Amino acid sequence: MFRARKNVEVPEGKFVETKYRCRSCSHEWWERIPAPPDKKAGDAA
Ligand SMILES: [Zn+2]
Repeated sequence: MFRARKNVEVPEGKFVETKYRCRSCSHEWWERIPAPPDKKAGDAA
């Protein structure tokens, strides 16, 4: 179950973290996936 989404930036690169919650026991967790390339941000951030 989707709950929230946030962007994170770490030395390994940019990622998108999505928060989910289990329907049966209500525990929550984050899943991190690589962010899509953002052309507007440029290369040198
Ligand atoms: Zn659960």
